[in-house]
Amino acid sequence: MLGSLKTYLQDPLLKKMYDDIRSVGPVKSISLDLTHRCNLRCKGCYYFEEGMDRHRSPEDERLFDAFLNREAERGTNFITIVGGEPSLEIGRIRKIYARFKLSIATNGLKKIPVDGLENIPIGVAVWGSRETDRFLRGNDKIDIFEKALDNYKNDTRAFWYYTVAPGLSEEIPEVVKTCIDNGNRVLFNYYSDQAGLGGKFDYRSGFEKVRAQIDRMIELYPGQIFMTPYFNKIISTGQLFDMKWGYEVCTNISTNLPSNAARMDNGYPYNPHFRAYHADFETVRRCCTGETRDCASCFDTWEHFSWIMVHLRKHLSTKEDFTNWLSTMYLFYTINRLVDTEEGMSQLQSLLSRQQPISSE
Ligand code: SF4
Ligand code: SF4
Repeated sequence: MLGSLKTYLQDPLLKKMYDDIRSVGPVKSISLDLTHRCNLRCKGCYYFEEGMDRHRSPEDERLFDAFLNREAERGTNFITIVGGEPSLEIGRIRKIYARFKLSIATNGLKKIPVDGLENIPIGVAVWGSRETDRFLRGNDKIDIFEKALDNYKNDTRAFWYYTVAPGLSEEIPEVVKTCIDNGNRVLFNYYSDQAGLGGKFDYRSGFEKVRAQIDRMIELYPGQIFMTPYFNKIISTGQLFDMKWGYEVCTNISTNLPSNAARMDNGYPYNPHFRAYHADFETVRRCCTGETRDCASCFDTWEHFSWIMVHLRKHLSTKEDFTNWLSTMYLFYTINRLVDTEEGMSQLQSLLSRQQPISSE
């Protein structure tokens, strides 16, 4: 198997991209709820649906500093900052930025300042067209999308983290055009209806149309969409080779939690360093996106990145499989600024232009 890796790396582009990611070194990541507070109450937010705000973030700065020290000592070098709403805690973001690589998810209402935070990857949420987004996130009153567009206009740190509901694929072209015209790239996520709205929001109706529309966007806006057809297929189908997505194969589980021990013993790989910390900066939960959540509802993009990334060996049977693995890895490194974003997107484009379209059958 590793012999085939050697063969594939005789291709100069594959070798360059592989060397780029290997030169970054091992990524030892955790996820952190930076605060339990939020200035919104979106319909279907996993955080509040499971009442995770009961884990309060301490006022005492020394407890936060002690947490960062513990994680640095443990070897953590990458923190995914979620919440609650991270932009309510700029001082603590600055502290993380000074010591770790990081990525932030924000609702976009309050701008994360540029000064002193110049190289942060910021995923700004949008959940659909103006109307849909206002319904799901703005309590039918606030146009959060508009405020976020204004806050992050031509801000190269920011990309849109566009969560699409299964029955709203027809909104995708207009939303994507708006985001790109604003000077930002777009990463997709798949709405899982934690609020039980049903109908067009119901994940059980499947993401085939969303998948097709995302593939169209990748073609229409080369270099502007942080997705590949392969990655889009894996998330929307939940199938990776002989594995079906779910807890038994999920890689981002807190590895210090006894209740995850059986999962860690089942033979499927996982991230041995990973922990998903609550906002109390001490306790952890089962995984990034839930404590008891039904995994059938989980289409989280970041978790699927990790799923593909840990499975290099499964992607060594053919050069095409390896290219799919490498493009997924490289996309993750590019979005998170672990490699230069512009150069990264340009190399990804070169790689994608050589591939045959992936069938949606
Ligand atoms: S902004 Fe984020 S944390 Fe706040 S309610 Fe919406 S999805 Fe949840
Ligand atoms: S909800 Fe998603 S991230 Fe959490 S254990 Fe289930 S599959 Fe993994």
